Amino acid sequence: MSDAPAYGFDTLQIHAGAKPDPATGARQTPIYQTTGYVFRDADHAAALFNLQEVGFIYSRLTNPTVAVLQERLATLEGGVGAVCCSSGHAAQIMALFPLMAPGCNVIASTRLYGGTVTQFSQTIKRFGWSAKFVDTDDLAAVAAAIDENTRAVFCESIANPGGYVTDVRAIADLADAAGVPLIVDNTTATPYLCNPIAQGATLVVHSTTKYLTGNGTVTGGAVIDSGKFDWSASDKFPSLSAPEPAYHGLKFHETFGGLAFTFHGIAIGLRDLGMTMNPQAAHYTLMGVETLSLRMQRHCENAITVASWLEQDDRVDYVTYAGLESSPYYERAQKCFPKGTSGLFTFAVKGGYDACIKLVDSLEIFSHVANLGDTRSLIIHSASTTHRQLSPEQQEAAGAGANVVRISIGLEDSADLIRDLDQALTKACG
Ligand SMILES: *Cc1c(COP(=O)(O)O)cnc(C)c1O
Repeated sequence: MSDAPAYGFDTLQIHAGAKPDPATGARQTPIYQTTGYVFRDADHAAALFNLQEVGFIYSRLTNPTVAVLQERLATLEGGVGAVCCSSGHAAQIMALFPLMAPGCNVIASTRLYGGTVTQFSQTIKRFGWSAKFVDTDDLAAVAAAIDENTRAVFCESIANPGGYVTDVRAIADLADAAGVPLIVDNTTATPYLCNPIAQGATLVVHSTTKYLTGNGTVTGGAVIDSGKFDWSASDKFPSLSAPEPAYHGLKFHETFGGLAFTFHGIAIGLRDLGMTMNPQAAHYTLMGVETLSLRMQRHCENAITVASWLEQDDRVDYVTYAGLESSPYYERAQKCFPKGTSGLFTFAVKGGYDACIKLVDSLEIFSHVANLGDTRSLIIHSASTTHRQLSPEQQEAAGAGANVVRISIGLEDSADLIRDLDQALTKACG
């Protein structure tokens, strides 16, 4: 698969990065359940530790099973390299870590996964970093928020908990003009529905926990690098452009060019932060990625069917799904996400907070679960769970008000999902 980009998505999701195991001929990628790797001799070991030769040293840094997933995700996203890590949240820290320093800020969309809002508004402060939250529909406000200490812009392509889609190209152009990288969380869209790099993003982050794995088995994350950002164009990114004391003064950008971010992510990020993906998790995610396009097609199909039914039901106030013609983001979705807008959306129940609680407790097929992108349909009342740590204003801004539930439409028969919602709404709204 050396000329891999010539192949179509369905072929790449199965083959990219993988070849029959050289030792045994095993056709499926083996789970290399090992922490260490025998060096050929002392010179080989020295070359590996000096980053003069690429190879396996220790599974906190690299592992052959994880490496296959890294190459597959890099290929599907149109990047040059990827670093897998232990969760989506780990991936976000791994993406910011080489860019930020005390006093630096990231410009973040107001429409983000609740856990990310908490990570960005609270936890990163302990590193001396900060986030400025801006409505990404207001391009002038995004441009105005970028200052001399800004080191990245961060948004989600299709936002969790749903209903909002970002014009990635427009945000990428702003970041580009300011000389800072755009990081796009592509978890909800997946590379099947959106390629942020093709629209100008520098880095893509994923929670592989969700659609990429696809059946709720393992947590994981990934950072994919476009390889296109010039880290040496300014003195803003010394981790990548200046001499690295922990590697005898090696300059990552000068030495590794387009792979600088990926090498830094492994040689410094995973080495020192240790947010490593284990080979079992990589195996489960590789299994999921093999069927990604088929699943995403069905997730999108089922979501539009269920969302359309909910929208005409008079116990429902409104449905926010960018695939519905009633959505203010319908036109943008048609333009930027022509293959569909994923299986995630929210709806408001007329009975408010109490009716939402009764609804989630009355469903039989849908499970009340803080996860998404599963083969199974899932529901959650965000205001009392995932978005609980946010203020009411932040909940509203994130589309997770008290009367709103989020559903992740699975791969079941859509008629069964509708029947289940119908009976539960009857109980919830009396
Ligand atoms: C779940 C999620 C995350 C966090 O990923 P974890 O694997 O749970 O750490 C980040 N962004 C989005 C959009 C998510 O849905």
